[in-house]
Amino acid sequence: MPLFSSKKQQEHEAKRSIELGKEFIANASHELRTPVTIIKGFAEMLRDIPEISQEMFDSILEKILRNCERMESLVKNLLLLADLDQLAEIKKEECNLSLLIENCSYQILSIFPDAYIETLQNGSDIKVQASADLLELAIMNLLQNSVKYSFADKIPHITVTIEKKSNNSVILSIEDQGIGIAKENLANIFDRFYTVNKSHSRKLGGAGLGLSMVKIIIDKHNAEIHVKSELGKGTTFSIHFPST
Ligand code: ADP
Repeated sequence: MPLFSSKKQQEHEAKRSIELGKEFIANASHELRTPVTIIKGFAEMLRDIPEISQEMFDSILEKILRNCERMESLVKNLLLLADLDQLAEIKKEECNLSLLIENCSYQILSIFPDAYIETLQNGSDIKVQASADLLELAIMNLLQNSVKYSFADKIPHITVTIEKKSNNSVILSIEDQGIGIAKENLANIFDRFYTVNKSHSRKLGGAGLGLSMVKIIIDKHNAEIHVKSELGKGTTFSIHFPST
């Protein structure tokens, strides 16, 4: 009986994995098709309208370029996701989280000079075992989201907290005062291609891949990620690093 059910389970898992693969390809193709269609339409316009004003020409060119950039970023993220999926084990070393946060905040402020990032920590030079490059990628994604999903008419205010516990575990929290996420959407936000509002995400240059990459990275660190959010009030992501 156990043999039979485990074989059935294996079959079920194999089927599910094929379904997920198909779903992934359909989603990726759909996301890529949109900018391609837009680029094609504008290129045809440039070809077919014989006398076009310089202003119109510049505006069309701008739209073509924006959609090329969107495709470029999508393909970059798809390749990154494939690399992360294939990573069997990551190489962890001592990583100064305080310094990493300082570095990430600096990068965010150079992209979004209006943002305000406050860092609180119960110690200096708090360290975790991590792959610094991967952790940086995850933190940058979370910080970028906290700016992207802030209110358009408010200065983004982000509080980063690094807390070292007595058992040497570390909790890193990134809290924003942005638009928040409704309860019914929270369970899906780490899914590939999941966006709460597709057109809003597209406008901000996202396709719903960022948090799925963050989740893979955090899982590879044997750490956990949790999210708390209130619509209209803000969102907090916290990463729990195990004690070393
Ligand atoms: P996207 O490319 O859409 O930003 P992500 O995977 O990074 O994709 O995030 C998935 C969804 O989760 C987003 O579409 C957004 O609706 C929601 N989300 C992520 N971070 C935040 C945040 N800090 N505040 C509000 N909503 C967020």
